[in-house]
Amino acid sequence: MSVLIVGSTALDSIKTPKAENPRLLGGSASHAAVAASFFSPVKLIGVVGEDFPKRYLQLYKRHRIDLQGLQMMPGKTFHWSGEYEANMNNRRTLLTELGVFETFTPTLPASHQKDPFVLLANIAPSLQHHVLNQMQRPKFVVADTMDLWLNIALPDLLKLLKRLDGFVLNDSEAHQLTSEDNVFAALKKIHKLGPKYVIIKKGSHGSILSGPGGFFICPAYPLHKVVDPTGAGDSFVGGMMGYLAAAPGVIDDNIRRAMIYGSVVASFCCEGFGLVRTTKLTRSKVKQRVKELERLTRFD
Ligand code: AMP
Repeated sequence: MSVLIVGSTALDSIKTPKAENPRLLGGSASHAAVAASFFSPVKLIGVVGEDFPKRYLQLYKRHRIDLQGLQMMPGKTFHWSGEYEANMNNRRTLLTELGVFETFTPTLPASHQKDPFVLLANIAPSLQHHVLNQMQRPKFVVADTMDLWLNIALPDLLKLLKRLDGFVLNDSEAHQLTSEDNVFAALKKIHKLGPKYVIIKKGSHGSILSGPGGFFICPAYPLHKVVDPTGAGDSFVGGMMGYLAAAPGVIDDNIRRAMIYGSVVASFCCEGFGLVRTTKLTRSKVKQRVKELERLTRFD
């Protein structure tokens, strides 16, 4: 089964203490789509401007990502720029230029409206609603978000939460949304806002799922060197959704393993700038790290 993914398709200019890389392929949907593509077919919904390099379109195509829902419009591609502190965790946004996303209200091709797995990757909640409105009875809908939308579009986001099966956010966003310092108290409060499955990401400390089957503590793969963590959260949720779409059986039986696969793809993402490392991945390399994680977390 395929995964439909909407979110930002961007050019990212990223600065770390060691290097600076302008106008890399980025965006929440790009990271999520490439991650999901290792497991299942992906349909991308997004928009780019006339300045979007052709080689980036080729990159999507190499991952067999369906681009029928990717529009090219007159104007500039979404451009985001961020700078990391020495610890590679704290990040400052230097610039966000919405460009062609400012007026983007896509009409989904008929072939896209019946996809069972829908990932509303980080983008304005109004656009996440707009896409979800066009889907015909999807099986599993998950959304991601960021602090910006909690600040400027909270009513839209709260309405969206009521329509979701799953919601993924990081620990500082969970605190912002619930005013809870304790992650388990925050999970409980977020369930009350709608989603059956809530995942709180904790960066290099992994993530925690709360769902019908109880809690699951998902580890992060231990990395000795982080080159650029941009897109790790998107790769995590993209990998998870791709795995779920490909796995036979019910969500509740598969979601823990799906999170492990997402976590592993996210670890590769951190080992290169932008999508450089992720795009060189193979399924066997993913499986190898999944095995290592199994070994590192097993006890009896
Ligand atoms: P992450 O590191 O998982 O938080 O995701 C980083 C990605 O989010 C980058 O590739 C950016 O292009 C994208 N991004 C940054 N700001 C926004 C925004 N306001 N809306 C959508 N995507 C964004």
